[in-house]
Amino acid sequence: MDNLVGRRRVLAGGGAAFLLAALEGCGRGILKTGRVDTSAPPVQPRLQLQPLHASPDRITRITVCTRPFRAEGPRLDLEQIGTKTIVHNYGHGGSGWSLSWGSSSIAVQKAMATGARDIAVIGCGALGLTSALLLQRAGAHVTIYAKDLPPNVRSSLATGVWSPDSRICLEEHATPSFNALWENMARQSFQTYQTLLGLPGDPVEFIDTYGIRDDAERKTPTTPPADDRPPFADLQRKLIGDLIPNGEDFAPGTHPFGPRYVQRFPMMMFNLTAYSRLLMSDFLANGGKIEIAEFHTPADFASLRQATLINATGYGARALFGDESVIPVRGQLARMIPQPDIHYGLFYRHVSFIPRRDGLVFQFTGEDDYYGYDDAGTTADRAEAEHAVDTIAGLYT
Ligand SMILES: Cc1cc2nc3c(=O)[nH]c(=O)nc-3n(C[C@H](O)[C@H](O)[C@H](O)COP(=O)(O)OP(=O)(O)OC[C@H]3O[C@@H](n4cnc5c(N)ncnc54)[C@H](O)[C@@H]3O)c2cc1C
Repeated sequence: MDNLVGRRRVLAGGGAAFLLAALEGCGRGILKTGRVDTSAPPVQPRLQLQPLHASPDRITRITVCTRPFRAEGPRLDLEQIGTKTIVHNYGHGGSGWSLSWGSSSIAVQKAMATGARDIAVIGCGALGLTSALLLQRAGAHVTIYAKDLPPNVRSSLATGVWSPDSRICLEEHATPSFNALWENMARQSFQTYQTLLGLPGDPVEFIDTYGIRDDAERKTPTTPPADDRPPFADLQRKLIGDLIPNGEDFAPGTHPFGPRYVQRFPMMMFNLTAYSRLLMSDFLANGGKIEIAEFHTPADFASLRQATLINATGYGARALFGDESVIPVRGQLARMIPQPDIHYGLFYRHVSFIPRRDGLVFQFTGEDDYYGYDDAGTTADRAEAEHAVDTIAGLYT
């Protein structure tokens, strides 16, 4: 118990006077005089958490990546280019991992419907790997052609949580038919992820996450933009709310984070190193082939023997297909030395902390979803990384 973040540790930090009233009131009981009854045995706060060692000097890596956002949502149509039938499967914004199984299952049905059984997948990120595995399960021979493989693909630089409506489209494009498509993808992915729990290396696991607020007022999870830019779609609560258990509230004094308001909710997390390796090894064990290849225009596909291709090139589709509807949304992660005893995530003041087994992940997520919008820059911002770490570290002092 000693090394848990408990009330004593919190009291040692700033704001001790306020906390004393809140925590001691909870822990020992208040006398009629309003003073704390110090004769009563101390009671630990209801919520006890292992302390996180968060400090900027423990940062091991800062990564920057672009989300492939399309205002109208992912592209999943068929295109005929010369003799090749291309099934598109790109443009999943900040939801590529979360929606991958459902989206790729749609692409695979379309590819199999061409009658081909020797099929090429272009790309080896979240969408390429899940497309390839689902094609194999449907009975196809599959070759992945890609410029880069994990861990050198953009997918490997994602936060790694179930976030199926993160920057998936603009609200104005969330039509009834899009919503039905999205709901189908989200539910199918969610169910597939349940089959990946409990495996060696924990490629997928559930963790508790604590949303922490400075005041009692509860805010919506997605903040609409402050200016007149169109809002992003908010689909998860509306369409698949039944998949998300209710949060549990902790008032000040019942948790280790001082005079703050805390809500606990479960979250599905992807340990991307183990998870990508699992997808790659399953694909290879099923007889899949991988070839390193870069395509500069769709005409380059003529060199492939396969007539049917799934295009899972993500942000790369912007240059390859000249598709300027793919907008880069920059996102940066600060990675820190793993702490195997930490099994909870935190969200506080626009910073998220995820306890991935392959490295703790800190991220400043911005005031709203336009943070990083139309920014293809990949230069690391050390100040932003340190701000993210310091914000979370501040919860423990
Ligand atoms: C900071 C950040 C955090 C994120 N967090 C999450 C999260 O927690 N949960 C979630 O669900 N999503 C998250 N995302 C979004 C997710 O990472 C993307 O939606 C997803 O990675 C897209 O995968 P993809 O397979 O389409 O593309 P990629 O991973 O980019 O893969 C594309 C593949 O195509 C290949 N390729 C591209 N162009 C060519 C070419 N011309 N020739 C040959 N090969 C080519 C590449 O080499 C690569 O193999 C996050 C994104 C960012 C930036």
